Amino acid sequence: MLIQKHIKISDILGWATDFLTGYNISSPSLDAQVLLSYVLGINRMDLYLNLRQIMTEDESRRYENLIKKRAKRIPVAYLIGEKEFMGLSFLVNEDVLIPRPETEILVELILNRIGKLNEKRYVIIDLGTGSGNIAVSLAKFIENADIYAIDISKAALNTAGKNAQRQEVGHKINFIQGNMFESLNQFNIKDRADFVISNPPYIKTDILKSLQPEIGFEPRIALDGGKDGLDFYERIISGAYFYLKENGYLALEIADGQVLMIKEMVDKFNGFFDIEIVKDYAGIDRIIIAKKSSDLEMEKGRWRRL
Ligand code: GLN
Repeated sequence: MLIQKHIKISDILGWATDFLTGYNISSPSLDAQVLLSYVLGINRMDLYLNLRQIMTEDESRRYENLIKKRAKRIPVAYLIGEKEFMGLSFLVNEDVLIPRPETEILVELILNRIGKLNEKRYVIIDLGTGSGNIAVSLAKFIENADIYAIDISKAALNTAGKNAQRQEVGHKINFIQGNMFESLNQFNIKDRADFVISNPPYIKTDILKSLQPEIGFEPRIALDGGKDGLDFYERIISGAYFYLKENGYLALEIADGQVLMIKEMVDKFNGFFDIEIVKDYAGIDRIIIAKKSSDLEMEKGRWRRL
């Protein structure tokens, strides 16, 4: 054990912050606090009210283990098994991507669009649901929703299902294992969806290795978007056209630098209008949202509006 047996909260926090700083962790003090709150089962505010309290030997041992794991770059969310998204607490583990704050913008855009429409039952498709963060938060905030949450990973769906139960919205979500739209055939929702949403894997394969080491603990299939990071978009755009009703929305999260290419894909498909790009908190174009136009027919190898 690196730390002494009977140690005060203030001292152990100091030790942990220094230790993590030594390993170049980007937010050592915050991580030290979050992990200590987790071990002690109290919130961060209470840490400050109890700075002089002595930890038990068991508590300090468990804490030291977590700090050492964090020094090995395991993300805090995996260490505590939880991540907040849209003000809700989601269970996470190494089978699912850790929900990111940017993705909240995607969810908020959908909620805003719904705010403008009449109250009715919304049919929503979430491709690559992962922890279920998008599907579950939409289910939580939309009164009447039929959500189809798809993922290729059984393990991810298992976690997403638990999150739906935890938020008591399981009855609004169908969890489906499959590759993109392929397993949706069994449901009668062609031309019926109000929203098709996805935060697909969009990182270029080459770049994956050079990102912060924490990313290496997340499932590769949730991140790897192929050579140019665009592997999934074409399929999502054409599938969305098939499932959306007229004026239904396609809403996608995109990577830094991809906006022009993806906008062009949507434009070229010629089945969407009102294309809008929304930036994230860092000013990066992060979401593309578009409306399905009326029916198309194929003419001389190109889609044309009827
Ligand atoms: N839908 C999940 C999220 O937004 C998972 C996305 C993914 O695995 N690419 O976090």
